[in-house]
Amino acid sequence: MSNGQDIPLSRPDITSLEIDHVVQTLRSGRLSMGPMQEQFENLVAARAGAEYAVAVSNGTCGLHLALLALGIGPGDEVITTPFSFIASANVILYVGASPVFVDINPRTLNLDPGQVELAITPRTRAIIGVEAFGNPAHMPELAALCNRYEIPLIEDACEGFGGSHRGRPIGSFGRIAVFAFYPNKQITTGEGGMIVTDDERLADLCRSMRNQGRPVDPIEPAWQSPGSWLMHERLGFNYRLSEIHAALGVAQVKRLNEILENRNIVASKYISRLMGMPDIILPTVDADTTMSWFVFVIRLSSEFHAENRDRILSGLRRHEVGASNYFPPIHLQPFYRSRFGFNDGDFPITESVAQRTLALPFHTRLSDREIDLVCQTLEVMVQREKFTIDRG
Ligand SMILES: *Cc1c(COP(=O)(O)O)cnc(C)c1O
Repeated sequence: MSNGQDIPLSRPDITSLEIDHVVQTLRSGRLSMGPMQEQFENLVAARAGAEYAVAVSNGTCGLHLALLALGIGPGDEVITTPFSFIASANVILYVGASPVFVDINPRTLNLDPGQVELAITPRTRAIIGVEAFGNPAHMPELAALCNRYEIPLIEDACEGFGGSHRGRPIGSFGRIAVFAFYPNKQITTGEGGMIVTDDERLADLCRSMRNQGRPVDPIEPAWQSPGSWLMHERLGFNYRLSEIHAALGVAQVKRLNEILENRNIVASKYISRLMGMPDIILPTVDADTTMSWFVFVIRLSSEFHAENRDRILSGLRRHEVGASNYFPPIHLQPFYRSRFGFNDGDFPITESVAQRTLALPFHTRLSDREIDLVCQTLEVMVQREKFTIDRG
């Protein structure tokens, strides 16, 4: 992620606790489907307020299994947001269903529940809600809407692990929810993900499908329970998480509060440092939200255009400040344009927001000096662009 830059956009927070867990697991001789997976699942389930947790190889395959477990397939429509990481829409295509994009709320950057209701048809089989940048705004309304229409809410919680909203943990709003543990997320297993749900049937289906369609994991090592290792009840996948990854996850979840607190401190420093800048829109967090900050994304005010933002981005990178344009709209990705014929202007709020975003370096070890350097560089670049705009 650092691209050799001085101040990287993100950086995992790994201590000797993680290293010890991994080394002990390597020494244990049990490298797949063992006690670390179970412990990791239990810790994540507890944190998400869920009955069941199923560890998987990454967030994307977790979402894939969630859709399959809910029986979503060809002919079905799934409503989701175009302002997200591409995986939240791609998984709809994996199962042969049709993505139906709905525009976002310009303040929260999440699906607008009112717009979602207008997009529901008799073919709508699920809604995938995403906590963009970790912000859970509108999740309760989406869940209520899904209840009214008897459609399952799939919570793509890949950007929000550890946060909460109106007293409910992120991951508890959907019928099924998925976390991701790629190195740029709040906590990481290198690659990894976790499905959480209160529905035992969905959890069992996901367990079986992650493990080649085998009967739900026997308590005994599978090779000791005759028949079950070479018995395949349904179409499955190898979406398992190794014990090595799970051991890393166990250590990271144990340190979750410390990590989230440190991320919170960095976010607060950015906010107080940038609050006075007239050309910048800071992220808004509702009073009833405890943020688990995934990334720190600011927006330029509406007089700036995509070219201005891109020049600011290049300027930051030239000064070795890691920055990115989270997220280019999914419907305007070349694959989605050519497959579905989407065009500029189809989802105007998403497009207007996406043209002006800047993700700034964000991780637990960012020093005050570095935060200052990022903000100073940003100020210079923004002023320079503003000058070219004002001169027409
Ligand atoms: C990170 C992320 C995913 C996918 O996670 P991977 O572990 O990289 O597969 C899915 N959806 C969203 C919104 C994400 O940010």
